[in-house]
Amino acid sequence: MTRRVLKFGGTSVGDLDRIAHVAGLVEADAAEGGGRAVVVSAMAGETDRLIGLTRAIAADSRVDVADEYDAVVAVGEQVAAGLLAMALRARGLRARSWTGAQAGLITDGPHAAARIAAWDAGAVGAAVDGGEIAVVAGFQGATRDGRISTLGRGGSDVTAVALAAALGAERCDVYTDVDGVYTTDPRIEARARRLDRISYEEMLEMASLGAKVMQTRSIELAMAHKVPVRVLSSLAGPGDDNPGTLICEEDAIMEKRIVSGVAYARDEALVSVLGLPNDPDRLAGVFARLGDAGINLDMIVHGRARTPHAVNVAFSVGRADLDRALALIDGAKAELGFELTETRTDLSKVSVVGVGMRSHASVAKVMFGALAEKGVGVDAVTTSEIKISALIPDDHTELAVRALHAAYGLDAA
Ligand code: ASP
Ligand code: MG
Repeated sequence: MTRRVLKFGGTSVGDLDRIAHVAGLVEADAAEGGGRAVVVSAMAGETDRLIGLTRAIAADSRVDVADEYDAVVAVGEQVAAGLLAMALRARGLRARSWTGAQAGLITDGPHAAARIAAWDAGAVGAAVDGGEIAVVAGFQGATRDGRISTLGRGGSDVTAVALAAALGAERCDVYTDVDGVYTTDPRIEARARRLDRISYEEMLEMASLGAKVMQTRSIELAMAHKVPVRVLSSLAGPGDDNPGTLICEEDAIMEKRIVSGVAYARDEALVSVLGLPNDPDRLAGVFARLGDAGINLDMIVHGRARTPHAVNVAFSVGRADLDRALALIDGAKAELGFELTETRTDLSKVSVVGVGMRSHASVAKVMFGALAEKGVGVDAVTTSEIKISALIPDDHTELAVRALHAAYGLDAA
């Protein structure tokens, strides 16, 4: 029997009308035949509200309450699962709710940021094969010793993909408030197009670059287990044309594009360490301090300084990490022996992403040509096999995104 997993996020189940609407979508999908499991997030705003309660009562951060935090915040998903199961029954369908633990999801790792250790989906599988719709609370599971645990913010996406893998489902359909993955942000470029398909790798780059369609971890999981994931609109009516975007293996994509999308991320900062003695130990010392503090770096630029035997090295970090990064480096000025640090916070990052880059030579030529034509200055660059990113002044973000979208032929006719 084929099985399919459907996932609905917080806005999609945001109130009782939306939950009734979702029940209609589930009914239409189930009518195609096969078993159905549905994963839900908490109703919009509910997780924030519950977290607020835990903060208000456990203000003293020295007291360890992480397990009880999980017990509280996991409730949001249970409410949504129970309500959706009721709405499905109201339509005459057979359905029941499952907590993560009842559904067999075992976690390890710290409370509030647990990882999925194993999923024994035998009972859910038997239920759906028997024609009962399983409505599973996302975001939560239980530790091996039976305590409720949660997967970290946005964790319902991970639940849905992991359940699809555990059930051997043909596909995981993620219903959300956009109707698919676009070539770029349609709020910036009205000619952005919905992609029919995108590879896992491209989606990972787009997601981590700020195209917030799905949680990055869930895409990594889908890629590892080869679970096809479809992103589609939860606003459409049952039976409407709603093809969405299929996130799948590269081989399953017929139309190979050089560039599939243009992503951007604001809130970038660049730290330059100027006049660092040209000595591998000092260079290692800079990055050891940042790495030990758990600060994620993105771009690194390394070049000769004006003075002999010295180099300039610059790295980019998210603006949220800037103060910490700078304090670590400035605090080690004597040991590292550099002249001074400089920072810039008026930057954003634009990136072009596409698996077709692997076999095409002119991708960089087109990118920097298009930026130059618009007079957009570039402060740093990084590349991977399927991505080129440039750090640019943030007031040029829109201009750059539109120019790149046009330059790679992505504009809708
Ligand atoms: N309700 C959880 C959150 O708000 C999990 C999720 O929505 O995916 O983070
Ligand atoms: Mg979400």
